[in-house]
Amino acid sequence: MNKILLIYTGGTIGMMQDAKTGSLRPFDFKSLTKQVPELSRFNLDLHSVSFKKPIDSSNMHPRVWIELVNIIEKNYAKYDGFVVLHGSDTMAYTASALSFMLENLSKPVILTGSQLPIGIIRTDGKENLITAIEIVAAKNKQGKALVPEVAIYFEYELFRGNRTFKYNSAHFDAFQSPNYPVLAEAGVEIIYNTNYIANASTKKLRVHKNLDNDIIVLNLFPGISKKITETILNAQGVKAVVLHSFGAGNAPTDDWFITLLKQTIDKGIIIYNVTQCPEGRVIQGKYETSSVLQKIGVISGDDITLEAALTKLMFLLGQKIPLTKIKTQLIQNLRGEITLFK
Ligand code: ASP
Repeated sequence: MNKILLIYTGGTIGMMQDAKTGSLRPFDFKSLTKQVPELSRFNLDLHSVSFKKPIDSSNMHPRVWIELVNIIEKNYAKYDGFVVLHGSDTMAYTASALSFMLENLSKPVILTGSQLPIGIIRTDGKENLITAIEIVAAKNKQGKALVPEVAIYFEYELFRGNRTFKYNSAHFDAFQSPNYPVLAEAGVEIIYNTNYIANASTKKLRVHKNLDNDIIVLNLFPGISKKITETILNAQGVKAVVLHSFGAGNAPTDDWFITLLKQTIDKGIIIYNVTQCPEGRVIQGKYETSSVLQKIGVISGDDITLEAALTKLMFLLGQKIPLTKIKTQLIQNLRGEITLFK
């Protein structure tokens, strides 16, 4: 019988209204499973563990990701797969981080949550939870997991975790992954897009627990000032900067701006070019406004999401490998997070 571990970290799915303040806050996991009696009807060996103090995912932090991978590592051999219940606000960051921290995955790690608490009649949480469990349990003809990767299941769609971002805080379909096809769609049947699902690794699971968060995002906008840009790039201890650029990876060509970027790179700080466009990619050199970036050594983020870019940087900086190696790995597709031009 399939053995599945449910890991409850918090989020709206398990929240209830505080009688005094009216705000939503996480409550304990036992009450959560009580709300879904359908779980006992699964022909599965379903176990659960809960964070001692469930959190709203806006309080997510690399130290919590480490806690999460510790749970997965400790239980990896015992279970066929994992469902992680998580707030939707930072779910895409967690999914991206887990994809880098869990190398050589051969079992599913599916994150899900909801926009309405599970105790509310119109909740989207029940369907999300039940289908996520079904996907984790799904096997192919050879008896191997159908989705052996880190993914997000939300509102009838399964996405690759490190390709996804939250784009809607009001609708049930809160996530999108415009640069990568959905891995599965749940209708009357669950249709798996097997050509796009990662292969299970045949190597032993490697869990990476060193993350370095000495990074920052420089979000470009017309009129960004020299004074502020200088302050950001010279912030003490910064090891990498995500340059959140326009369109296909473009930035202003003012001398002061390019000089500041070049000085930063010369100091050994990584500048990683990620586009503000949710769909499409960085092509340094396509326009004059990006060819200069290529020349001074800005690293192209290709079609990576901001969430995956930040967590990939945390992961690579945490490896304590030489700068040149970090730069080579940034332009490599490590966990299906970027599409490389052939
Ligand atoms: N604030 C909540 C969280 O991210 C929202 C949600 O769960 O959808 O924890």
